[in-house]
Amino acid sequence: MSNWLGMKDEDFVAREDFIARVDAKLAELGFDDYSLNDILISPEQLDSELGIRAPYEKLRLALLTTFAMAVRYGRHPKFKVGVSNIDPQTGDMIVFGINGQIPNSRLTEAQANDRAVRSRYTNHPDRASLDAMARKGMATEGLIQMGTLFHCDECATSLTNTGVKLAVCDLTKIDEYNMGLFLEGEMGPGNQGASFAHTVKKFADAGIRILDIPLDKDPVKQALEEGIDLDELDRQMGVFTDGGNDQTIHMFAQPLSIPVLAK
Ligand SMILES: [Zn+2]
Repeated sequence: MSNWLGMKDEDFVAREDFIARVDAKLAELGFDDYSLNDILISPEQLDSELGIRAPYEKLRLALLTTFAMAVRYGRHPKFKVGVSNIDPQTGDMIVFGINGQIPNSRLTEAQANDRAVRSRYTNHPDRASLDAMARKGMATEGLIQMGTLFHCDECATSLTNTGVKLAVCDLTKIDEYNMGLFLEGEMGPGNQGASFAHTVKKFADAGIRILDIPLDKDPVKQALEEGIDLDELDRQMGVFTDGGNDQTIHMFAQPLSIPVLAK
């Protein structure tokens, strides 16, 4: 039985290993006074340090929902990357996005199958969802962004530029293979640099904190077990207006109140 990434359970990276390996890469790059540990924030510090009033439990359910939606709507056969932008005061979901291609980019089949080319034309939802908000004239200052994967360092630049204050993820939701690629910088859109380590440095410099929320190994199963109703979610997703990003970004007419439970 495969998990949400279509990979074996034993391939996933442990939380301590994730932090240790990112820190080792930071040191290798000469950023040895930076550590991922230093930018992690606890649920209790959200309000006192960042002024975030959204309750932790609501953020946890929103992350669970983000995973479930990424698997449901993601078009990549294996790598389901989804991102939600969350109102810091209410915890409601403003935008949901999945990995896609840059709007109107056309690649031949051979180009699409060439990872170096394809990744250059990939629209990471972290960045694309913020761009879509800018296009709609929506404020991004102080926003929470959560995703199924740790941010690459190009998206990290977008987060720093747009005033996002908190990134939410589950540090264990990456497997050995992709962890290696991200540490060596082979997975960034422009294939430049050691993505995860540079993300930590950029976040630290900008004062962006990371809330690590542990979810079960299979977040989709967990979402269903906790009563999140994916069919009801589908119906509510039906009111979204496209953000101009070629089906990648779902902007809701009204912020989506998480969790979406069976009625
Ligand atoms: Zn990215």
